[in-house]
Amino acid sequence: MLIAGNWKMYKGAAETAEFCVELKRALADLEGVDVAVCPPFTSLAVAVQVLAGTDIAVAAQNVHWEPEGAFTGEVSAPMLRELGVYGAIVGHSERRQYFGETDEGVAKRARAALDAGLSVIACVGETEAERDAGDTEDVLRRQVSVLEAEDNLVIAYEPVWAIGTGKTATPEIAQEAHAFIKTLLDVPVLYGGSVKPENAADLVGQPAVDGALVGGASLDVESFAAICLSATRS
Ligand code: PEP
Repeated sequence: MLIAGNWKMYKGAAETAEFCVELKRALADLEGVDVAVCPPFTSLAVAVQVLAGTDIAVAAQNVHWEPEGAFTGEVSAPMLRELGVYGAIVGHSERRQYFGETDEGVAKRARAALDAGLSVIACVGETEAERDAGDTEDVLRRQVSVLEAEDNLVIAYEPVWAIGTGKTATPEIAQEAHAFIKTLLDVPVLYGGSVKPENAADLVGQPAVDGALVGGASLDVESFAAICLSATRS
């Protein structure tokens, strides 16, 4: 069971240090759940520093496929490794939607990160229009087909219509999509999309749901810790 917090473009270094000190305290007795936070690039170093010696991992929100080069604005896997970062998200729907990331690019990012020894959370998920058109399985098949099963690869099923909208997938919808993804690739699958302390236990309690990728509700220590704790009871 993994609960990961995607902070998006929130929390600079000072706020990150404060948050991590409090999170460490809030999760001191947590057992049986892996926890990761995914701050913006500029806050990774301080998160690694404050969380050193705890079981809380630090991951980035993206990673480039080349180790170095003329790729303005990008950060590579060896650069993340050097900081002590354990993994990276790839293919988040906001990257696909606002920055033109493609399935092929996402696959290259995942491959390079895994080869460099990072863990990867690869995001997939259909838009509302795709779901309404009955295309959910085709979209998931296309997005998952470019990935290869590996020990350090986790998929996050994040229906785009549920991200930041307050519209959570029902546990049944999540279960169905996760079970389908697992027929394509045998890796753990996290659910993401408006996960909150009130709905986390029902979602992660589904047999094919192996944890959660939490956006908005991971920005507050109390609500993120409550989600982590509710996962121990599932
Ligand atoms: C996300 O950004 O990965 C996410 C799931 O966001 P939220 O929980 O806010 O819907």
